[in-house]
Amino acid sequence: MAKRDYYEVLGVSKNASADEIKKAYRKKAIQYHPDKNPGDKEAEEKFKEAAEAYDVLSDPQKRQRYDQFGHAGVGGASSAGGGFGGMSMDDIFSQFGDIFGGHFGGFGGFGGFGGSRGGRRVNRGSDLRVKVKMSLKDIATGVDKKIKVKKYVPCSHCHGTGADGDSGTKTCDTCRGTGVVTRVANTILGQMQTQSTCPTCGGEGKVIVKKCPECNGEGIVRDEAIISLHIPAGVADGMQLSVSGQGNAARHGGINGDLLVLIEEEQHPELIRDENDLIYNLLLSFPQAALGCQVEVPTVDGKAKVKIEPGTQPGKVLRLRNKGLPSVNGYGTGDLLVNVSVYVPEKLSEKERKLISELMDAESFQPNVSLKEKIFSKFRHLFD
Ligand SMILES: [Zn+2]
Ligand SMILES: [Zn+2]
Repeated sequence: MAKRDYYEVLGVSKNASADEIKKAYRKKAIQYHPDKNPGDKEAEEKFKEAAEAYDVLSDPQKRQRYDQFGHAGVGGASSAGGGFGGMSMDDIFSQFGDIFGGHFGGFGGFGGFGGSRGGRRVNRGSDLRVKVKMSLKDIATGVDKKIKVKKYVPCSHCHGTGADGDSGTKTCDTCRGTGVVTRVANTILGQMQTQSTCPTCGGEGKVIVKKCPECNGEGIVRDEAIISLHIPAGVADGMQLSVSGQGNAARHGGINGDLLVLIEEEQHPELIRDENDLIYNLLLSFPQAALGCQVEVPTVDGKAKVKIEPGTQPGKVLRLRNKGLPSVNGYGTGDLLVNVSVYVPEKLSEKERKLISELMDAESFQPNVSLKEKIFSKFRHLFD
């Protein structure tokens, strides 16, 4: 299908002002709005076509490229099919929803969906929330997970319409298709008008002639679904990822809700997370610290060998570069900090006590005063 000229689509001249273009688009959008033309595929195409034209002509740069090079100048738009470069109705509303302003009060944007103020309701499925447990090892690399969820999916018997066979829908008698009912009440202040969602059609403006027996006319059924998820590296406890369109299906073929994935971080038995750094508390024996040694410390994906220099003091922090976690935005990796402590024996045998007593007055065992100063200076800022 060849694309029509964008100016022609909106019915404006080549030198139309930005305001004229906006006005023209608004008119078309209201004319072909899916709420006004339920189930009308042609109107939907016209609605999309107008949105596409507006997308290009409302952007001075895109408009200039379009004027110069035609459809080929504005991205993949030259491809066949005449679709809107992968733009869904959902995108159109969230992008240009403000254009509908007063006319479609409910369409303030995404959050306004399914609202019942003014105009007929476009059903939107509810968001589906799942929790995904992630170990530090998973977080270090990112993982693909398949999760089983219970969610609403379109009914296969009626293909989501809610209607049995070809019975289809008819305009709601209660609200005559407007989706709202107006009540007039006589009060001491005079006549008061109140508008509310039509109780018969739930605001959709149409009712199903014969309900599908499988879904009782809802168009959706509860089922089990397997969803493939990619969880990126570096996520943290409490983060929420949103997967567009993977939530519950909407009644009568509306817009799917989103899948919201809440990250639950599993505690590591030995490593403590501090943003992208990891902390390991290493406890050395006194001879290990005094004589030096080689030890193994746990990492997210195994073990690392660490050399302990002779005379290592408690409180020393060894930094293993890039052995922490990657940052979730892809910039850099944290470190593994090995925090050294020295174990002092709590009970001594007679023989051990004797041995250590002999060292009591040994010269090298006298605390180093300059080291004391050094430790003090490290904490001095705490007392300032
Ligand atoms: Zn059904
Ligand atoms: Zn109604």
